[in-house]
Amino acid sequence: METAKAETLQERQQRLQHIMQALKKQYPDAPLALKFSNPLELLVAVILSAQCTDERVNQVTATLFQKYRKPEDYLNAPQEELENDIRPTGYYRNKARALKACCQMLVEEFQGEVPRNIDEMTRLPGVGRKTAAMVLGNAYGIQQGIAVDTHVRRVVERLQLSDKKNPEKIEQDLMEMVPREQWTWFSNAMILHGRHVCTARHPRCGECVLKPWCPYPDKTA
Ligand code: SF4
Repeated sequence: METAKAETLQERQQRLQHIMQALKKQYPDAPLALKFSNPLELLVAVILSAQCTDERVNQVTATLFQKYRKPEDYLNAPQEELENDIRPTGYYRNKARALKACCQMLVEEFQGEVPRNIDEMTRLPGVGRKTAAMVLGNAYGIQQGIAVDTHVRRVVERLQLSDKKNPEKIEQDLMEMVPREQWTWFSNAMILHGRHVCTARHPRCGECVLKPWCPYPDKTA
C-alpha cells in the first residue's frame, strides 16, 4: 500500500480488520513458544525469557519445573543453587533475585497463587504489564491487557497501528482497536509474526501476508 498520510482512526481500524483476518489465517491458534503447565510456571518462564531465547528457556525449565513446584520452593532454595539452576538463561543473578522477590510476595500476599488480575499482578516485583498480560491471557484465559514486547512493538510501528513509542501507550492504542476477546491471541500472533517474518534486521516482506495493508517503505521484495 501507499505510505499512509493522515490516516483517520476509522481508516486505521478498517486496515486493522484486514490485518487481523490475515493474521488469523496465518496463526489461527498462536500458542506461546514457552512451555508451561500452570500460571506459576508461565510467570517463571517469562521472567527467565528476558534477553534469552524461548528455546533456551524451555530447555532450562524442563528440569527446573520438576524441582521447583511451588513459590516456596524458589523462596527456600539457596540463592546460589537457584542461580546455578537457571544459569544458561543468562543474567542469572538478577533473575534469581527477581524470582525470589516475586515468590516472596506470592507467598506473603497471595496465598502462594499467581493473582488473577493485572493490578495485583503488576504489584509483583519486576512484573510489568507485558508479563502480567501474557501470564493472565495464556495461563488463565483472562484478557486484561495486550502484551507489547519487542516484536509487537516493532511490527506495530512498521504497520503504523500506533505512533507511540512507549509500550504501555502502544498497548492503550491497541486495546482501543482490537476486540477484547482477541487481545491474547493478537499479541501472540504479532510475536510470532515479528519473530519469523517481520524480523528486526531483514523483514521478509515478500512473503508477508500483511503486505497489502502495510505502509512500511523499506520492503525487501
Ligand atoms: S510487509 Fe514487511 S514491514 Fe510490513 S509487516 Fe510484513 S514483513 Fe513487516
